[in-house]
Amino acid sequence: MNNNFLLSHRKEEPENGVLYMVGTPIGNLNDISQRAINILKNVSLVACEDTRQTKKIMNKFNISNKLISFNKHNSLMKIPKIIKDLKEGKSIAIVSDAGMPGICDPGEDIARRVKSEGVDIICIPGGCAAITALVSSGLPSSSFVFEGFLPKKQIYREKILLEISKSEKTTIIYESPKRLRKLLNELFDFCGGKREIMVARELTKKFENHVGNNINEVIEYFKDKDIIGEITIVVKGIKKRDFNPDKLTIKKDLNDLINAGLSLSEASKYLAKRNGLKKSEVYNMI
Ligand code: SAM
Repeated sequence: MNNNFLLSHRKEEPENGVLYMVGTPIGNLNDISQRAINILKNVSLVACEDTRQTKKIMNKFNISNKLISFNKHNSLMKIPKIIKDLKEGKSIAIVSDAGMPGICDPGEDIARRVKSEGVDIICIPGGCAAITALVSSGLPSSSFVFEGFLPKKQIYREKILLEISKSEKTTIIYESPKRLRKLLNELFDFCGGKREIMVARELTKKFENHVGNNINEVIEYFKDKDIIGEITIVVKGIKKRDFNPDKLTIKKDLNDLINAGLSLSEASKYLAKRNGLKKSEVYNMI
């Protein structure tokens, strides 16, 4: 195979006037790609979440380039200037502290704004905790839901937990070690103890570990331990045939959805679809 063909599908990188969203490692610095190093070395400037964090990568790979801070506190203020620079022909890289910028990290807003201004965005793929955890879990991965961090407000949180409890797809969740216990107890309440799950800690790092196999076992494992490190949770979906709703369950679900802010009509429509019923049949149950 002609390698030049693979490498030269675009003009030489970085191109002027392009925003590069550069994926960086989620732990193991050796996971960075040659292409990412080349971009970080040669763009006009690198906008990063925390300059100290990005300097670790820059130092390891002998990259010296101009760094500016771009994080959730200052991004709104900085976006117009970045767009102006791009339109004047600069090439700019966005990096987050770890993984893919834009995935639960600053980057999403700027990508949307830059695109709407007709400026090109090119993503340089890198590590992403969600995908790394999913693949290591061995759970079905051809179709999945990524929830990121669940909302803190209980009614929104419960709405999503309810969806997870009924989902046939694998769900991936980010959580802080401080809140892991609470989340595991909620997953137990909504999905039951036997639901398959994997808690991935410190992916790609020295003390990487994977805790499974079901919610009961994972709760037991963490019962007497200090929970530290970065954590991603992967929850298996249900099999269609395992879901056999009775009238009481549907009534409870309806209440939960209404408490979570849906109207009676929206909640009935959702549950009818979910349970293969007509909307009128759900109405009749109440
Ligand atoms: N942009 C990142 C990505 O592409 O995965 C995610 C950033 S988000 C602010 C940080 C969360 O990602 C952590 O709280 C944790 O849930 C998850 N995470 C990041 N690195 C991880 C790792 N090495 N192992 C497990 N989870 C990780």
